[in-house]
Amino acid sequence: MSLKHKFLIIFFIFIFSFIMGSTSIYAQNTIYFNGENISGNISTVSVKGELLVKATDLAEMLNADLKWQPALKLLEMEADDVKIKLMANSSYIQIKNDAIRTKAGLQLIDNQAYLPLAKAIEAFGYLLEYQRDNEELYIFQPETTISNVSWQEDGNQLQIKMDEITPYRILHSDDGKELTVEIDKAEIDEEFSDNISNNNYYLKVVNVPDKALLRLIIRSRNSIPFKIDGGVYEKEDALILSFLPQLKKIYIDEDNTFAVEATGKIPEADIEYLSDVRKMIIDIPSIVIGEYELDIEKNSFIKDVSVRQHNLDPVVLRIEVETLGNKPLQPIIDPQKQKNNVLSFKEGEKTIIRDLAYNSGQLSFKSTAHIDPEAFLLSQPPRLVVNLFNAQRGDNILDEINVDDSQIEKIRTARFDEKTVRLVADLKELTGYQISEKQEEGYYSYIISLQNKFSKVSTEDTADFKNLNIALTGSTDYEVKKFTHPHRIVIDVKNAYNNLDELDMPANGGLIKEIRSSNYELEGEKVTRLVFELDKYFSHTIKKSDDGRLINIALAKSADAAPDEPMLIAAPKNNLIIIDAGHGGFDPGAIGYTGLQEKEPNLAIAKKLAEILDNKGQKALLTRNRDKFISLQKRVSTANEADAELFVSIHANSINNNTAGGVETYYNGNNNNSRLFAEKIHDKLSRSLGIIDRGIKKDNFYVIKYTKMPSVLIETAFLSNPREEKLLRSPEFHSKAAALIADGIIDYLRENGGR
Ligand code: ZN
Repeated sequence: MSLKHKFLIIFFIFIFSFIMGSTSIYAQNTIYFNGENISGNISTVSVKGELLVKATDLAEMLNADLKWQPALKLLEMEADDVKIKLMANSSYIQIKNDAIRTKAGLQLIDNQAYLPLAKAIEAFGYLLEYQRDNEELYIFQPETTISNVSWQEDGNQLQIKMDEITPYRILHSDDGKELTVEIDKAEIDEEFSDNISNNNYYLKVVNVPDKALLRLIIRSRNSIPFKIDGGVYEKEDALILSFLPQLKKIYIDEDNTFAVEATGKIPEADIEYLSDVRKMIIDIPSIVIGEYELDIEKNSFIKDVSVRQHNLDPVVLRIEVETLGNKPLQPIIDPQKQKNNVLSFKEGEKTIIRDLAYNSGQLSFKSTAHIDPEAFLLSQPPRLVVNLFNAQRGDNILDEINVDDSQIEKIRTARFDEKTVRLVADLKELTGYQISEKQEEGYYSYIISLQNKFSKVSTEDTADFKNLNIALTGSTDYEVKKFTHPHRIVIDVKNAYNNLDELDMPANGGLIKEIRSSNYELEGEKVTRLVFELDKYFSHTIKKSDDGRLINIALAKSADAAPDEPMLIAAPKNNLIIIDAGHGGFDPGAIGYTGLQEKEPNLAIAKKLAEILDNKGQKALLTRNRDKFISLQKRVSTANEADAELFVSIHANSINNNTAGGVETYYNGNNNNSRLFAEKIHDKLSRSLGIIDRGIKKDNFYVIKYTKMPSVLIETAFLSNPREEKLLRSPEFHSKAAALIADGIIDYLRENGGR
């Protein structure tokens, strides 16, 4: 039929309806029933804005029995034990004992009964999806039934049990207090149950009929820190959402122990005693406040406790305790570590200090209980003073230890007052320091590391090599790395003061283009980074002196200059690089501030990355090259079965705090080279992507945990941050991120081509 004819017919029907005195309008929807276009077999009209379907057509479609009682003007339709009744001139549909209100009700048009389509098919257990933009209607049976939503593992995991997993997405509100799980083509089981609602949470189930989806809305009194990446996984016929453990209870038990209990493992807390001994601050990372019980009545030593969520990115719970007496609360070490969800404190007895020792820049001692050393520097003469409160000296502590090395002359100990033991280190010159604490079986061990300084940086030429000599004041923990674009040797030194400005540096020239330094953070540790930027590079070897204070790097001056030992640097092997665009298909990943779905920028960046690598002569394979769902297992098996050389997963971040932003690179201990691989990539991203550097982190994301080759997961930017969501929409940002990741991959391959 030509368009013109179709239009004429529509026109006549319209006129005809008008003359008949009815307000019904021929409806132009395309209707699909269980995926099949049935528009030709079904007549519909629109009355009062509601779509009505001819009763006989609907009965045929649903295979239902139809009964019409002319005297009562009553229509009955029955299928699969469901019976609905409608009466002319009434806007209600009666289903069992319920009456559902519709806009138009039963209409008699041209001697035919018409009834509201959406409400009628819903009554028979079908779902309707209406796509407004192209006037298409989809009618189908639900593909999954949700039977139960329940907390598992004491509230750290939420399990959504359903027949089978259908497309879903997770959204969070701006204030982070609401999490919505949208599940497509889902219905709620008649016997549905949940155990969500408690003091802190409640669950609301919302059916969105014209979108054929179900919303499980989980609302909390407090913000629920939740990350889609790593926070959602599918387990057989259930969807599992992982939450951080919550604070559960603060109480005092029979033997006067002050205890903090969470619903899951409590990580190591940071404890600080304020100058007033009666106040202490306990900062616990990765614990959420939740709705907890506070039971500190009837006790003789605690005056007050206050709790708050100190920070959400990263998550930190802060507990402030005010005590009554003079004895500070001290954490109790549980050697068995049986209750890792409880942190306990006792009123401190006097701690005994023992095993005071000094070894190349490190002063160490042990204590029978946790203490909070108060350290400060004094000049004239230069010395480091450490006060240990509520402590006494053990048998083996001497009054004086003579050291006389490059940093320290001697260490003295004395009882300063009733409660305090004082350690004094007489220094050669003032220097920084760092205190670390370690729990060991039955005691705490403390190390005060005097900060390293660079004492000399020099170069020395031989016929074949240029030697870089770096000397430090103390024994050092360092790593030497080689990066390219430009070629450079990087020396990362931990716990070192960056005094390089004060030293005479070797002149540029020879192989050396430039020498510079920076302060850098690697996995949360501060490092001083010394960089030798090179004009040319052939190979290098590293030597370390026995006392650990000297680093020697020999740079070959030509390709012929044979190093002492064979180099492990291999030429690019042109092996397979797997590029994994996170999420896809029905799994959108995180949803951005204005609705951008994570799967889109992930794919855009991944495709550009593959193209760049291809142009550079590398073999790259995408786990998905279009908007398609691929399970995590499949992504991993693709990489492992292909025996790929490298694996790069591209994601975008989201957190319920729209100010958080930046780029981060994750690795796992799956392969010894993963961290180095992460560093090579993050080096490029952090320097040039133009957003905050959130650092390199270690985590257990599925795809980087189970892939066997060096693998990284990159969270390019934050979708929850409006500015960064805008970047994630822009092709320029996709290209920039892809180019930087490619540079990092090539950099890594240049030096680590051989596994
Ligand atoms: Zn993701």
